[in-house]
Amino acid sequence: MARVIFLGPPGAGKGTQGQLIAERFGVPHISTGDILRNAIAQGTPLGLKAKTYVDKGDLVPDELILDLIKETLQREEAKQGWVLDGFPRNVAQAEFLTQLLALLQQPCHLVINLDVPDEVILQRLLARGRKDDTEDTIRHRLGVYREQTAPLIDYYKKMGLLKTVNGNRPPAEITDEIQSLIQASQS
Ligand code: AMP
Repeated sequence: MARVIFLGPPGAGKGTQGQLIAERFGVPHISTGDILRNAIAQGTPLGLKAKTYVDKGDLVPDELILDLIKETLQREEAKQGWVLDGFPRNVAQAEFLTQLLALLQQPCHLVINLDVPDEVILQRLLARGRKDDTEDTIRHRLGVYREQTAPLIDYYKKMGLLKTVNGNRPPAEITDEIQSLIQASQS
């Protein structure tokens, strides 16, 4: 059982670590970025609305994301726990999530803040080469992260849930540390 939120700038390794941790704990890995990219690829109504924002590196409007998260967290699979990757992305989303989890009586155990220096992030994202990984878009996404998402570090610190992990190390070491932190948060 684990209910964990991954926080960190684009390229910090939230996707990779989120996936590995979800596998180790046998819980779903919920990535709003993956959900949006799939919706765009399939041309669903959500995808059509989200595309211009995702292409530019802006956050999609909250109303497109909040219902989706609510529905996903109420599914049967999510009763065993979850790893959230890419949500919440701003204070309004975090407040919505806090209320939703209280309502579902499924409190979050831990928020992992993956810390990676900016220059490493830029190199990683340029090497990854996703459609929204051009240099201009990366800079824009880092700006969006600093302005809208980084305040969540304080938000979760105040709630006593935040653990910062050095994300600039071999991936297996990072996964082991996160696993220990989750286990410690539950004992
Ligand atoms: P990610 O894969 O998490 O880096 O997300 C890729 C893109 O999807 C972001 O640049 C945003 O455009 C969009 N996105 C993902 N998650 C959210 C969210 N929680 N709120 C708003 N937009 C999001």
